[in-house]
Amino acid sequence: MKRIVIREEYCMGCRLCEIHCLVQHSKSKEIVKAYKGEFPKALPRVLVEEQGYLSFALQCRHCEDAPCLEACMTGSLHRDAETGAVICDENKCVGCWMCIMVCPLGVIARNTEGKKAASKCDLCAGEKMPVCVQNCPNEAITFEER
Ligand code: SF4
Ligand code: SF4
Repeated sequence: MKRIVIREEYCMGCRLCEIHCLVQHSKSKEIVKAYKGEFPKALPRVLVEEQGYLSFALQCRHCEDAPCLEACMTGSLHRDAETGAVICDENKCVGCWMCIMVCPLGVIARNTEGKKAASKCDLCAGEKMPVCVQNCPNEAITFEER
């Protein structure tokens, strides 16, 4: 499957990936409305980690042997048959946070505004490539067959 690959040597920590991800997962898909006019506000599904000069974008790796899939009792977390992405059906999620407890990378967020639901990378279903990849000015995030 095609996977997001991080090249931390090119990441400047600009956080454009977080901004584009939040906008992509908002209702309006317009930046000002997404940040200032929507409730519940969308969450970014990628987070930039920084320490000193080191920074990199961290999001779900869509693990082959994904512990979050095993832990989800409602079946809201599932694998997309076409893309192989691990997806959360937020309508089915009951907010038990078991997935958060078992994910080794800590890349699932709790959305507690509005309906309680797990929030995670979905590889921007419907886009030819994830928006964090499309909008990284330094190609510090790429989308490759692995
Ligand atoms: S949420 Fe965590 S455990 Fe689940 S597929 Fe992504 S990285 Fe793996
Ligand atoms: S929080 Fe939602 S997605 Fe995560 S394990 Fe519970 S029901 Fe499944």
